[in-house]
Amino acid sequence: MTNDEAHLATQVVHAGEPEERIEGAVNLPVFMSSTFEFSGENSYHDLRYIRLNNTPNHRALHTKIATLENAAAGLVTASGMAAISTTLMTVLSAGDHLLAQSCLYGGTYDFLNNTLPHLGIQTDFIDGHDPESWKSKLKKNTKAIYVETITNPLLQVAHLPEIVEFSQAHGLVSLIDNTFATPVNFRPLEIGFDVVLHSCTKYLNGHSDIVAGAVLGSQDCIDKITHRLNHFGGSLDPHACFLLHRGLKTLVLRVQCQNDNGLAMAKFLDSHPAVKKVHYPGLESHPDHRRAAELFTGFAGTLSFEPKGDATAARRFLKRIRLPIVAPSLGGVESLITRPCETSHAGLTDEQRNVLGISNGLIRVALGIEAITDLIDDFDQALG
Ligand SMILES: *Cc1c(COP(=O)(O)O)cnc(C)c1O
Repeated sequence: MTNDEAHLATQVVHAGEPEERIEGAVNLPVFMSSTFEFSGENSYHDLRYIRLNNTPNHRALHTKIATLENAAAGLVTASGMAAISTTLMTVLSAGDHLLAQSCLYGGTYDFLNNTLPHLGIQTDFIDGHDPESWKSKLKKNTKAIYVETITNPLLQVAHLPEIVEFSQAHGLVSLIDNTFATPVNFRPLEIGFDVVLHSCTKYLNGHSDIVAGAVLGSQDCIDKITHRLNHFGGSLDPHACFLLHRGLKTLVLRVQCQNDNGLAMAKFLDSHPAVKKVHYPGLESHPDHRRAAELFTGFAGTLSFEPKGDATAARRFLKRIRLPIVAPSLGGVESLITRPCETSHAGLTDEQRNVLGISNGLIRVALGIEAITDLIDDFDQALG
């Protein structure tokens, strides 16, 4: 079965559900049991215990998310950062070197810079838009390469097929954080990436009520990461599993709506006289539009823009906007809005932010599933 869009809508509902319904229950019940009766398991990792990531709620999610990403196997974790840190500490060992895209999620960037060096793992950063420059960063001990499908907050799309080609040519493990695109819009394993990571906190759960993560890949790779997670202990609680499972069932509906809202809002802002610049890969004016259009079926619901009048105008806009909530995070049913200079990139100086192209007037918008006409009316009055 090919994993096209139509199948995804069925798979979010049916993949991973118990083959025989439990007591006939249409919905998988939540198993709040830390431990389960011994039934002759012969490995520690097969004992049934919540920390060992193998309750019925975990197993259903592993199959469901793996199916959506067209992966052989999957694992859910206590947060996106638990997935990222546990995976990197499985793929990499002391003495290894990592190449990573320069504009990464803040928590990941910090982890690479401040935690991995303590474990004897060094990282060099690459410009995902300049494939010519990658080879000069390679070292004898380079083991893996790490990128994000769509970067925050400028929504850039790196040369992803070239990343895969480069990894294969040099025997590297290729890892990609697919949080912003979701498997509805892009499935990296299908173009040759080895490992996919998610913060399920965002679009996959979609209701801003839990933190969770996931990692997808080959059976062998996921087994190794699972054994690490079994020791690190970053397991997802069964009740959070239940909520993620429920959220996933509407993933396709939500993301299709967010794709539509994202594009409509980007076009509205792009034509508004009070707006200086809009960053959204679905707009033809975005420098990565052609690549994004070739790779993705939609551009998701996150964009950023700069009003004319810079920081003063941005602050005024945030005071006047009514529907979106001013809060970090993204991917939920409700629209959220932030100024990256106050949130995700608050740790940088004005100068460092300017180098990255993140002005103090930049506003990031994570669109929810509200009616686009209401959202546009609200943005219009707040810009007015
Ligand atoms: C939020 C986020 C993370 C971290 O996920 P948590 O669930 O908050 O730990 C990682 N990568 C990206 C792209 C994110 O947006």
